[in-house]
This record gives sequence, structure tokens and C-alpha cells, in this order.
Amino acid sequence: MNVLLYARVSTESQAQLGHSLEAQINTMREYASQMSWVVAGEYIDRGLSGRSNERAAFLAMINFATSPHANISAILVHKLDRFSRSREDAIFYKALLKKKGVSVISITEPLEASPAGLLVEGILETIAEFYSQNLAEEVKKGQLQVAKKGLNQSEAPLGYRSENGVLIVNAYEAEIIRSIFHGCLQNYSYRQIAHSIETKYQKRLHPATIAYILKNQAYLGHRIWNRRRKDGSIRPESEWIIALNSHEPLISQATFTKVEKILQAKKPHPKTHLFSGLCQCNYCKSTLTCYTQGENVKLICRKKGCPGVSILESKLEKFVFESLAMLYHHAYPYESYNLCELENKDLKRLILLTAIQIINLDQKQVEIVYLN
Ligand SMILES: [Zn+2]
Repeated sequence: MNVLLYARVSTESQAQLGHSLEAQINTMREYASQMSWVVAGEYIDRGLSGRSNERAAFLAMINFATSPHANISAILVHKLDRFSRSREDAIFYKALLKKKGVSVISITEPLEASPAGLLVEGILETIAEFYSQNLAEEVKKGQLQVAKKGLNQSEAPLGYRSENGVLIVNAYEAEIIRSIFHGCLQNYSYRQIAHSIETKYQKRLHPATIAYILKNQAYLGHRIWNRRRKDGSIRPESEWIIALNSHEPLISQATFTKVEKILQAKKPHPKTHLFSGLCQCNYCKSTLTCYTQGENVKLICRKKGCPGVSILESKLEKFVFESLAMLYHHAYPYESYNLCELENKDLKRLILLTAIQIINLDQKQVEIVYLN
């Protein structure tokens, strides 16, 4: 089978502690040759901070390994922590590769197949499916340098002017931008903010433009390309190309995050609750109903006369995803990815449905998992 080798050092001390790139690569070459595997490529990152733009080789490798005719069966790493800089990353890329039939093999930490492993693999596949659109984004990030040259420089956003493609702060407009973010922090509506800007600065902005500005990462100092189609309509965010820290920010990350939370809270709640239709009453076996009570979602049994207890969704969520995280850890003892940390509710529900499906398919194996 064909394999790729990947090596990375992220700190000076690692490089000195015998994890040097040469040592990693040499050990992997020996391992591959012992197994009679063909090394189809070697990828090396020397980035010290592990930021994505310093992982060009990693992204190039993912790009190659997942391309249609690459015919790669596995990526070898010296240790799993070389593969990714964060747990979020590890699960994302591993799931992505798995979808293309590429596994990640740590030559110093061999993994055993277990029932927990099978369950986790199923969950990984679900996550990969969910994120398949993000693949385009990740690959594009890797190709940013190339893309930058080819793409037309987009117009400078309000608050900046463009000088030879570099964004320079326009002091007067910058004040408007800060005022818009301030207005949002005060919990004013888009319409109210637009009105106050017009009064104060004689600048007319549509409420939809206000909404757009409040989400624009250009104000954090990041440049974004590929946002609009040729016909002027806006592409989904997953298709944007983002260059971090390319110019002076107008808004602090703390303010931007606060505003993000305020905007999030304005969004209507998802229609389907996380556990909708999935839980049974422990007394009468009828399906529990989810309902919203203030900030909380509760699951209760609505059957007349049933003494069934109610439970907070957040409590159940914590329990279920902590259990799944334990299974994950059981299957991949050298990692500790916490599924509880996933923020997307739709993805969480998909994971639940997948887990339930797998459990129903193979009750015996799952019993073994429980025993373990
Ligand atoms: Zn009941």
C-alpha cells in the first residue's frame, strides 16, 4: 500500500528532545520499509506556533491524500500529536481522510480495533459528512498564496481605503464602524443603529448593511476574498478565503466576540430539539416531549397520571456526550477529544442519531462497550 509521511516540530524544546524532524522522518521510513509499504510522499512543517499558515505542508498533504487519483491508504506520523495542533483539528481531518479511505497511523502508538472504535468510526464518518463543505474552505486556505495573486482585489470595506491592495484605516469611517459595534453592544436593533449613524454622521446605511458590518471579519484585521459571486450575490461563508492579520483592526476580538454572542441570541432557536423523539419515559415507555421553559429546555413525560420525572436537556446532553467522549478515549487512548465541546446543535443531533443507529444494529458489540 501507498503511504505518506508527515513530520512537524512545534517548539524548540521538542526539536531538542529527540523529536527532531530528521529523527521523525528516519523512524517512519524504517517502519514503512519493514511493513513493505511504499512511501509516496514526505511532508514536513517547521512552523513553531502551529498556526494554519505555517502548516502549508500539512494542508498540501491533506489536499493530495484526498484527491481522486492519489491512491493513498495511510498517513504515517511519529506520534498522533504531530498530526494536528488541536483536538478539533484532529477529529476534523481524521474524519475527512477516513471518508476517502485514508487512515492515520502513529508508528509509536498502535491502535487496536474495539467495539468502541467502531462506534467512534461511525461518528467520525457522520462528522466528515457534516463538514464536507468545509473541506473546500480548508483546501482554499492552503492555496491562499496562489489565490491571492489571481483574485481581483475587492473593494475596501467601510472604515478603510485601499492603497496598492493594502487596507489603510480611514479615521472618520473607522469612527462610524466603532459606533455601529458600540450600538450593538447596547443592544440596539439594526434599524436603531442605522438611524443613529445617519443622525450623527449623515451616513445612510441600510439595516441589512449594519448586520453585515457586524459580522465582517475585516474589522478584526482579516482580509476576505471570494465573498461575492460575479453577479454580486454573496457566497456561503464556507467559500470565503480569509487571510489573518493582514491589516490594522478597528475592533478588538473581545468586542467582536461579544457582538457575535448578541447576534447569536437574536437568531430564532432551532426547530428541532437535540433529543426530540429520542428519549423514553422510564415508567410508561412513552416518548418524552421537549419544551422550552425560559432559558432551559426540559424533557418531560406528558402521559396523564404517569409519575415519570423530567430532566433538563443540558444535563442529559452533558451526560450523553461525556459518555461518547469516554468511548472516543477508549478507542483512541492517546487522544482525548471531547465531543461535548462541539457547538453545532445540528451536528450533535446527527451524532446522536448515528450512535443510536449503530447501537441498534449491533446490540452485542455495544454491550461489550458498556462492559468495558
Ligand atoms: Zn411516563
